[in-house]
Amino acid sequence: MSRTGIGWDSHRLAEGRPLVLGGVRIEHTHGLDGHSDADVLTHAVTDALLGAACLGDIGEHFPDTDERFRGADSLALLREVVLRCAAAGWAPVHADTTLVMERPKLSPHKAAMAANLAAALGLAADAVNVKASTGERIGFVGREEGVAALATVTVEARSDAGDRAG
Ligand code: MG
Repeated sequence: MSRTGIGWDSHRLAEGRPLVLGGVRIEHTHGLDGHSDADVLTHAVTDALLGAACLGDIGEHFPDTDERFRGADSLALLREVVLRCAAAGWAPVHADTTLVMERPKLSPHKAAMAANLAAALGLAADAVNVKASTGERIGFVGREEGVAALATVTVEARSDAGDRAG
């Protein structure tokens, strides 16, 4: 049996913050504001995975009121969610994602982001896709006020899911 979940996230662009997308640190004038490292792409994937497993959302698992998660590495949180899904008998098999941001060009970084996400999900690199789109200069993305990300993750029921994740 398989299931698919969706994830959406957005974060505000701010000066003096790192820009981390899919675990890749990208040089830019602005970064993303947030309690953790604000990795909007990884957050969307994490929510999609939780959705596929019907295990709630990222805010329930890692509250932004919890100081333990200040500046947290979002890929580490995703790996933790993979373990929680495995404990519930679900293993990821595929992820598709879209990053929506105006600048900078993401094409040089897409493969590295996909590789990081695949590693966190326990998947081969060719089972994760990262697409990039812009806001066409309209809305909060187009005005470069923020960045959005969407994701789907498909999981399969696995009796050995816990072993695979471990
Ligand atoms: Mg977020």
